[in-house]
Amino acid sequence: MTIQSVRGMPDVLPEQAGGWLFLENTAKQIFANFGLTQIRTPILEETRLFARAVGDVTDIVEKEMYTFDDRNGDSLTLRPEVTAGVVRAAIEHGLLHNQTQRLWYQGPAFRYERPQKGRYRQFHQIGVECFGFEDAAMDAELIEMTNALWRALGVRDAVTLELNTIGSPAARRAYRDALVNYLRTHEAALDAESVSRLERNPLRILDSKNPEIQALLNQAPTMDAYLTEEDRAHFSRLCALLDAAGIDYVRNHRLVRGLDYYGRTVFEWTTDALGAQGTVCGGGRYDGLVEHLGGKSTPGVGFALGVERCVLLMETLDVIPENMQAQADVYVMVQAAEAEVVARQMTSVLREQLPDVRILMHIGGGSLKSQLKKADKSGAQIGLILGEHELVDETVLIKPLRGGEQITVARNEVSKVMQTIKDSAWTM
Ligand code: ATP
Ligand code: MG
Repeated sequence: MTIQSVRGMPDVLPEQAGGWLFLENTAKQIFANFGLTQIRTPILEETRLFARAVGDVTDIVEKEMYTFDDRNGDSLTLRPEVTAGVVRAAIEHGLLHNQTQRLWYQGPAFRYERPQKGRYRQFHQIGVECFGFEDAAMDAELIEMTNALWRALGVRDAVTLELNTIGSPAARRAYRDALVNYLRTHEAALDAESVSRLERNPLRILDSKNPEIQALLNQAPTMDAYLTEEDRAHFSRLCALLDAAGIDYVRNHRLVRGLDYYGRTVFEWTTDALGAQGTVCGGGRYDGLVEHLGGKSTPGVGFALGVERCVLLMETLDVIPENMQAQADVYVMVQAAEAEVVARQMTSVLREQLPDVRILMHIGGGSLKSQLKKADKSGAQIGLILGEHELVDETVLIKPLRGGEQITVARNEVSKVMQTIKDSAWTM
């Protein structure tokens, strides 16, 4: 019996990795463009961090965590999300003392969920957390960042921004009571899940996927009436900044998000191109979290996107650049065994002088025809061929593999010529 990967923890095979790289590279570039710095925290944390940060009465903590005792008997958990660890690290290392932080991360998270398209037990997030900014300008900037990312990836037209404010804690408590009162008068119509949420986490009922519950909620009180003046001002400033930036949004009064620590702004980017798992990115404000985890009261706001869902979306829309899926730009071939050493030296000089060009040198001999087949399969744009003639003349044959005229150039000119060809997007 062969051993297989753990259920819900898929491999990313080479043919899929291009989309991942495209997303990761693009995100990295955009985050640098917005002046963020990176943070990396461990995949394992103490279990009580998540119980406290995410909230005891959430789906994540109640039923989705991978928790175990290590050999020392300490309870550890594979992180189900990254924010808690980032906040823990920021407090632990004094990153929040008299300074602001704009941080980004990427990496795996783990949730024991029912695996299906767009939902896995090990999945990956790319996210941003900013600390020390009370101003809604930061909420707007985060949304602007994600908007820039969708545009750079070519998926902007397929995603919609949903926006809501869930107010400050006092407003939320008042609303919560009103919602519970309303739902109690309709308790007979509630499903089992909603009844259990009614006791423990009633705002999550707004999230219910059950159409009958959603219909019931049409008549329910909304958060709006319970917002404080400050909550309102914060939200209108955010909306004004989004309008000014030309970013459309849909107000979704039922958007609450699963995690306990959110307050005021919450947002999600959703798509209908992926079926049920349509949320590609979620975020919002968590001004109380740092203090809740033992730090000095510090406002926080962030988002996380699901890498697998974003890659699925890019695959569905066919926007992953072909060259991300190619192995190489240049494929070096040898037509005479005596030319091999020279070809290898030439290749090593080329790699040094053109460090961002992907250069594959053929290994394993064979006819030129079979080498050209491999060159084609590698996705390379250009073939470099060294045969007996070229060896004697100290030249190399540059052969465009995707159409164009081949040329012979002096070997000591090859880096320069290849640079020019690269600059014209590999056309010749
Ligand atoms: P959902 O409602 O789909 O369960 P969530 O609210 O639990 O999402 P968050 O905790 O906000 O998700 O995580 C941020 C993003 O991470 C989500 O928008 C989604 O794209 C992705 N994500 C969350 N859970 C999974 C999972 N099990 N598999 C793949 N991606 C996930
Ligand atoms: Mg979830």
